[in-house]
Amino acid sequence: MYINNLFRRRALKLTTYASKYIRKKNSKTDADRKDLKSVVGLEIHAQLQSKSKLFSAAANCFESAANTQVALFDAAIPGTLPIINKKCVEAATLTALVLNCKLNTISLFDRKHYYYADMPAGYQITQQNLPLATNGQLSFYVVGENINKEIYSKTSFIKQIQLEQDSGRLIHDDSSQTVLVDLNRAGLALVELVFEPDLSDGLEASSLVKELLLTFECIKTCSCKMEEGALRVDANVSISEGEQMGTRTEIKNLGSVRAVQSAVDYEIRRQLNLIKAGKEIINETRGWDSVLNKTISMRDKEVLQDYRFMPEPNLLPLNLNMIDVDKLQLSIPELPNATRKRLMQTYGFNIRKASILMNEPVLLKLFFQIMNEDSSRNPSRAWNIITIELVAELNKINMKPVQCGISSNVIGEIVDLLDNGTLNLAYARKVIGELLQSVNKSATEIVIKNNWKQITNDSEILKFCEEAMVEYPKAVKDYKKGKVKAIKALIGSIAKKTNNRADLASVSKKLEELLKSNN
Ligand code: ADP
Ligand code: MG
Repeated sequence: MYINNLFRRRALKLTTYASKYIRKKNSKTDADRKDLKSVVGLEIHAQLQSKSKLFSAAANCFESAANTQVALFDAAIPGTLPIINKKCVEAATLTALVLNCKLNTISLFDRKHYYYADMPAGYQITQQNLPLATNGQLSFYVVGENINKEIYSKTSFIKQIQLEQDSGRLIHDDSSQTVLVDLNRAGLALVELVFEPDLSDGLEASSLVKELLLTFECIKTCSCKMEEGALRVDANVSISEGEQMGTRTEIKNLGSVRAVQSAVDYEIRRQLNLIKAGKEIINETRGWDSVLNKTISMRDKEVLQDYRFMPEPNLLPLNLNMIDVDKLQLSIPELPNATRKRLMQTYGFNIRKASILMNEPVLLKLFFQIMNEDSSRNPSRAWNIITIELVAELNKINMKPVQCGISSNVIGEIVDLLDNGTLNLAYARKVIGELLQSVNKSATEIVIKNNWKQITNDSEILKFCEEAMVEYPKAVKDYKKGKVKAIKALIGSIAKKTNNRADLASVSKKLEELLKSNN
């Protein structure tokens, strides 16, 4: 108790000193504060995809009934011992390799002590002092939604990658006012990736997370199901002034790419407002409330928590000679950056188009299938159909791309029907809509059955144009007087009359011809 008080007093003294310092700093005018800069550093926990847990034989199964996947060791029954799962070591090592880390052939496990109801042992086995890997990096593109904004590439450096145990889960049951403990997750293998504070805003942070997700999808070491908590992001945010780093806050457990972006940007604004108002930033842990769209204080960290780290006595040092690192290195598939480059070089896409396709692995696969099935296909048209039309139709019925059962050769068929003029875009959308209802049909079948073929026949087009000119004499007169926009009324009337089936490019060409000749 005495020691505790001593620490607390010393910590308080430091805090008071810090606030005085900040108050003094904040007496500056806005003009002096031009060099305020936001700084963001991420810590990411990714669950490794293995059949069993890191140190026990219990299964890794998200959907199981509560407390059915718990070995005695996971429940911290005295006398039980950890046995390291080689598959988890392989998955973590592969992750470290693709993130360009330096592997430590020997690494060590430590106990990190803290009390929480979802962690019966009272400590977590992690790697604090000598982790599995250090000094990595991840490069990615920062692509905003605003198409006028510049796209740039960025590299975030990785301080370390460590293997550690996941905790169990607490379930708050409001109806009975009780907290339930589920230990199914307790002891699952995690890698924690500690990134350096080298990002500057929410978009950069979310872009990094997207690239990491793509990388994991590629090497399949993590399921990437953020909605199941398989990848969780803690974002550290501070405002620096010139060379002087600011006090940071940590936003815990962000569970979606969107949450990472919104939470970081919110927190930057919140801190800037405090600084401008001459107030101090408190070193604290915050949570993201996705309903209120704000970060909320959870606990302050002004008094340093002592985790009483100690070497884990029940585990030998982790020696990577237990696995075949060279074989892992050789197994690395094409990584997202290389795929992106291939999309740009082979199909002539710009970064934005390549990135949009990359963001959805199912659609990317579909694109490659379509192009492999017939390499003479128009890649831009395939891109449009997949990333715009198909996605729009899926959204209409609240379906995700993974749920889309349309096969690549049917989508390819639509691309071809558009390319050879059999279909126009309006009807391509309808065909996709029908296909989503009955995936077994072919596109051509649907077009013929519904009479959805585009009208391209010259004599038919001529007939529609002549009729329209008779029916809308005012538009014809206006056009001839120099109001060229009046042609739109004529085109529109033909579109309407043919239920959007007429090939409007030919219509507009033919109308111009007629209007100019018929003086
Ligand atoms: P600690 O040892 O206190 O946990 P670390 O150096 O391990 O601190 O950093 C933890 C995380 O906090 C890292 O992801 C790092 O990028 C981030 N971080 C550190 N300093 C800052 C800062 N001033 N602003 C934003 N993030 C920071
Ligand atoms: Mg840390």
